[in-house]
Amino acid sequence: MSAAETRHMYCPICATPLSKQQVNGENRRACTNPSCDYVEWNNPTPVLAAIAQTGDNVVLVQARGWPKDWFGLVTGFHESGETAEEGVAREVKEELGLGCQVESLVGVYSFFQLNQVIIAYHVLLDKGDVTLDKTELVNYKKIPIEKLQPWPSGTGKAVQDWLKTKGIEKEPVSFLRTKK
Ligand SMILES: [Zn+2]
Repeated sequence: MSAAETRHMYCPICATPLSKQQVNGENRRACTNPSCDYVEWNNPTPVLAAIAQTGDNVVLVQARGWPKDWFGLVTGFHESGETAEEGVAREVKEELGLGCQVESLVGVYSFFQLNQVIIAYHVLLDKGDVTLDKTELVNYKKIPIEKLQPWPSGTGKAVQDWLKTKGIEKEPVSFLRTKK
């Protein structure tokens, strides 16, 4: 998935330039045409994430353009017309080429840097070999659950919370400090 943010220069309704204005006491970008009431709310985008378990391992993936030590959860944008559970199973199928059973909701996490809200699930992968989606991903690895190390941002908190349900208490560690 890409993290493109939708910020318009012009009103998407009437094409008049947007400007910063006070709306209900908050600074928002809004249409400057007095007969148009468009406000750019800039709501967070829902993103689905999967802690994808196979046996005693979790599959982490590396997206294109990431440093080579970085691995994360399978993630993707929630699409229209699907439930969150259907969406996370779709992303797992697209990125890993495997079906899965959605076990439980791990939690919902605000990712302010990317203006996203992450909805994280624990899923059990169907048996079979991973077939990576090479358009989005360059690598994957299977990590034994007890060796899984949460990271500070985005989906890392979901990993930390899920490990807690297994009786494993770990503080997040930055990728930079886990480099060997
Ligand atoms: Zn307008």
